[in-house]
Amino acid sequence: MPAYDRDNIFAKILRGEVPCQKVYEDEVVLAFMDVMPRVPGHLLVVPKVPARNLLDVPPEALAAVMPRVQKVAAAAVRALEADGLMLQQFNEEAGGQTVFHLHFHILPLHHGAALKPPGGPMEKPEVLAEMAGRIRAALAG
Ligand code: 5GP
Repeated sequence: MPAYDRDNIFAKILRGEVPCQKVYEDEVVLAFMDVMPRVPGHLLVVPKVPARNLLDVPPEALAAVMPRVQKVAAAAVRALEADGLMLQQFNEEAGGQTVFHLHFHILPLHHGAALKPPGGPMEKPEVLAEMAGRIRAALAG
């Protein structure tokens, strides 16, 4: 497996070099809206540990991440009044990964909703900002 590349786009977002629509942050993770959402409310939980994916993340770091994934996922379901939730996590190109910093996709789903294909189009910043605000409010409440 290739080495971790510290110039991947999520590393730049974590360092504040590239903007994002932030939903949640603590010492372990940063969660923000996916710019090419496959459903409304599609967001990403990105651990701060510099791991490429599930195959190289230290187990103790992963153990700290999962409660954050659960917390943000539950808030997204509440904010969207979703009927369910899909959690996605891809590993290496053959496994569907396109950004090589470990991350978890949270997709709040309603009965009968169809997922858009991955890779676009980009959502309008104001739509992502409104959605991030709703999920932040659910986290606060
Ligand atoms: P994966 O690597 O799991 O296939 O997916 C990477 C995800 O990152 C995609 O859903 C894509 O839309 C999202 N993404 C790619 N570049 C950016 C970016 O610059 N900002 C945000 N917020 N999401 C991104």
